[in-house]
Amino acid sequence: MLPLAQHFGRQAGYTPQDLSPDLGRQLILDTVEPVSGVECVPLREALGRILARPVISPIDVPPHDNSAMDGYGLRSADLAAQAETHLKVVGQVLAGHPLDTRIGPGQAVRIMTGARLPAGVDTVVMQERVRLDGDTVIIPAGQHGGQNTRRQGEELRAGQPALAAGKLLRPAELGLVASLGTGEVIVRRRLRVAMFSTGDEVASVGTPIQPGQIYDSNRYTLFGMLTRLGCEVIDLGLIPDVPETLEATLQEAAAMADVVITSGGVSVGDADFTRVLLERLGEVLFWKVAMKPGRPMAFGRIDQGTGGAWLFGLPGNPVAAMVTFYQLVRPALLRLAGMDPVPAPVLLQVPCQSPLRKNPGRTEYLRGVLATDGTGWTVRPTGGQGSAMLSSMAEANCFIVLDARQGNVSAGETVSVQILDGIV
Ligand code: AMP
Ligand code: MG
Repeated sequence: MLPLAQHFGRQAGYTPQDLSPDLGRQLILDTVEPVSGVECVPLREALGRILARPVISPIDVPPHDNSAMDGYGLRSADLAAQAETHLKVVGQVLAGHPLDTRIGPGQAVRIMTGARLPAGVDTVVMQERVRLDGDTVIIPAGQHGGQNTRRQGEELRAGQPALAAGKLLRPAELGLVASLGTGEVIVRRRLRVAMFSTGDEVASVGTPIQPGQIYDSNRYTLFGMLTRLGCEVIDLGLIPDVPETLEATLQEAAAMADVVITSGGVSVGDADFTRVLLERLGEVLFWKVAMKPGRPMAFGRIDQGTGGAWLFGLPGNPVAAMVTFYQLVRPALLRLAGMDPVPAPVLLQVPCQSPLRKNPGRTEYLRGVLATDGTGWTVRPTGGQGSAMLSSMAEANCFIVLDARQGNVSAGETVSVQILDGIV
């Protein structure tokens, strides 16, 4: 046995021809490691990328004590314990226009949100709470020293990490980095993913269809799913079911990419062929997953001299290819791309509107529509659930995830759903 297979062989429940999707995902995540290349990119270009180094704050955030409200700034020592406080308004501080004078006993300043607190001021009273009498501001009882202020460094101190390595850079992270005055970040390089479709019956868009043929949709869903994940996609096209051609294409793909994704040709009839081919080129860690759709799904490694690539052999059926991608390939790509931690799938518990037929044995991923009538959220399966029916994916906004042990579901019963927004 080769080293990877030995590692897999030690895992409880490892059955390479009938693996549970959860264990498959876990084994893949334990096996693959982030690519080592990094690059420094301007902040806007970092959207959707993964931090390779922590971002350390060069400054305190906020950089100075400032007001969180429009109101009146004062010294907490001046506040009467149980009665109104009368103070003389001696000036006004606007955001970006700090006041250099110290506020003394009995004095207050008009202050705006974001304006630096003048020396002496440690408390702000909202303007809606006060009365004015000429240049005297009358503060009601019940104020607390320090209220409505934001303290220098309260969010982050200079020298502290603002973001950890492994973080996906979303809009919030871009803003946070910008708030430090930092204009570039070090991210992992993009993953290179080579993919191709297989099948003598499959025809490319743009070519006339012959009798018995169908159009290749998998290269389009894969292009979309990979692009959304920020991968560099290398489309090797459509490869006929000729063993020598497939072998040569797999080798070519593994030499140029970090990951190779194929679709078709791992279904039950062809499984042994694919496995034998892959065993010659590298290692196959599993080739069947106890899930529906998507039972034929291979994971392994192709070795190519000094290099090589991870291989995901997806089923040909278009929905099965998408479901296996989201359940098993996506987490692997996130880990390879450097995300840390890779989040576990988020499952919500929702009542199902209609009964569902289900045999125990495999985990099922039905395409569902999650909706609310204003009183609560419920889910229903989309119309056709055939694993070739991409319209079910187009209609769905969630997967209904039925555990392997689960049998039939009755109407109103609670089921797990995984929302597609956020993963697609
Ligand atoms: P296979 O996994 O090759 O046995 O294919 C399973 C089913 O998926 C068959 O009905 C194929 O015609 C279909 N299929 C395979 N590849 C594609 C593709 N790229 N686009 C659409 N359907 C496909
Ligand atoms: Mg095929």
